[in-house]
Amino acid sequence: MLYNSTENANEVVSSAQAIAQGISPDGGLFVPQEFPQYTLDTFKELLPLDYQGRAKKVFADYLTDFTAEEIADCVDKAYTEEKFESKNPAPIVSKKYNGNDVNILELWHGPTCAFKDMALQILPHLLTKSLKKTYDGKDAVILVATSGDTGKAALEGFKDVDNTKIIVFYPVDGVSPMQKHQMTTQAGNNVNVCAIKGNFDDAQTGVKKIFTTPEISAKLAENNMLFSSANSINWGRLLPQVVYYISAYCDMVNAGKIALGDKINVVVPTGNFGNILAAYYASCMGLPINKFICASNSNNVLTDFINTGVYNKNRKFFTTISPSMDILVSSNLERLLYKLSGNNDVVTKDWMTKLKTESTYEVTDEVKNTISSLFFGGFCDDDNTKQTIKNMFDQEGYLCDTHTAVAVNVYDQYVAKTNDKTPVIIASTASPYKFSKAVLEAVKPDVELPATEFEMVDMLNQITNAKIPSPLASLKDKEVRFNNTTEVDSMPDYVLNALEIK
Ligand SMILES: *Cc1c(COP(=O)(O)O)cnc(C)c1O
Repeated sequence: MLYNSTENANEVVSSAQAIAQGISPDGGLFVPQEFPQYTLDTFKELLPLDYQGRAKKVFADYLTDFTAEEIADCVDKAYTEEKFESKNPAPIVSKKYNGNDVNILELWHGPTCAFKDMALQILPHLLTKSLKKTYDGKDAVILVATSGDTGKAALEGFKDVDNTKIIVFYPVDGVSPMQKHQMTTQAGNNVNVCAIKGNFDDAQTGVKKIFTTPEISAKLAENNMLFSSANSINWGRLLPQVVYYISAYCDMVNAGKIALGDKINVVVPTGNFGNILAAYYASCMGLPINKFICASNSNNVLTDFINTGVYNKNRKFFTTISPSMDILVSSNLERLLYKLSGNNDVVTKDWMTKLKTESTYEVTDEVKNTISSLFFGGFCDDDNTKQTIKNMFDQEGYLCDTHTAVAVNVYDQYVAKTNDKTPVIIASTASPYKFSKAVLEAVKPDVELPATEFEMVDMLNQITNAKIPSPLASLKDKEVRFNNTTEVDSMPDYVLNALEIK
């Protein structure tokens, strides 16, 4: 299996190269040249396997330059019972919402309590093996700019992984107290965390500048190191997400909720379009999916795009209670457009260039029509998000986080509009305790909020009896290891110092 760049069909690489490089030199994203085809017989083989077994099969079909032993090593190190609370890292919880059955795929049982663990627990292992194949003997230096969730998930994934070092920058006033505490108490002998005096964009720009400064790269090379990326456009982050849709389908069949071959709908709370694209890629392999329901918050650029074929990022930016979806440029959409345009790198590059230069582009009628037949786009504002959390809790005693609530709400809109009762899987992307303040305000609108995040967690627990995930419960007593703050301009120096190569 080989991979192409979405913006240059002549750029052809192996999976190890795609993962080691992260992004193509032309600015495009790496995509598989074709999709492995799974028949009902393939699914029959997957049904009796556990999550890890299914993951090994899917990985083997895409990472053809990895040996079976290498893949097994990655999967077995990533999805352990110790890290994900149980043998199945992605359990389904079946509930009703406003009278309709909903199957909630809980993707947040990993060490940082958000779905990014599903990919970031395995990426370091895929990356170190990819580096061995392509740049043998070098250590990878991972730089991350984060607005909260990605930084912690990357730190947990890379901590104490041989031949890697990770440095995370976060905006000093731009993350929640819980997120900050999660990062500054990070364990591991190859990790470093630093606040910057600026916002998330400053952090992101600073990191990009370090990546592209030749003198810094040369300094790293002298010391047998090279920069690599744990960014969500890396193929090594997308592929692990394909697995859980396939595995969830098998679990639904085994539980008697559907028969093998039956179609399902999937609902995904969407930001960068990675998670929902993984569901689409699973369907390209033969997973029977009827509709992809794309749920946004008030930053509803994708809702408009699905409904009109016009993508326009030139609009008001909202800071919402589902912050991981506060995004106006959904990077992974590029991969969908490439596929739907018949693997056309020229038009894909043209649209992406227009997005950069004119902030907007319009796809062809053909692509527009395919998108509206496959996808449903909807959105939900903060008030309705809170109302949905309350309704779900009042109806079923089930507590969902703000991102998941956006998905539940948009699904409810979809059924009201279409009356399509195809069995549904809703991706649940974070523990409610990660967003305790908003969730607390939702279930108890007249509550007097306590002063600290940890008190909010305890109060939410007293009111709802929902279990506090152990990684969050134990956080309170952890010692702060990193309390550095730096100016944006000093980020390069910080990196060289941290790597001890100044
Ligand atoms: C990152 C994130 C999302 C958005 O996922 P995408 O793959 O970027 O669409 C949704 N919910 C939570 C909790 C997240 O952390």
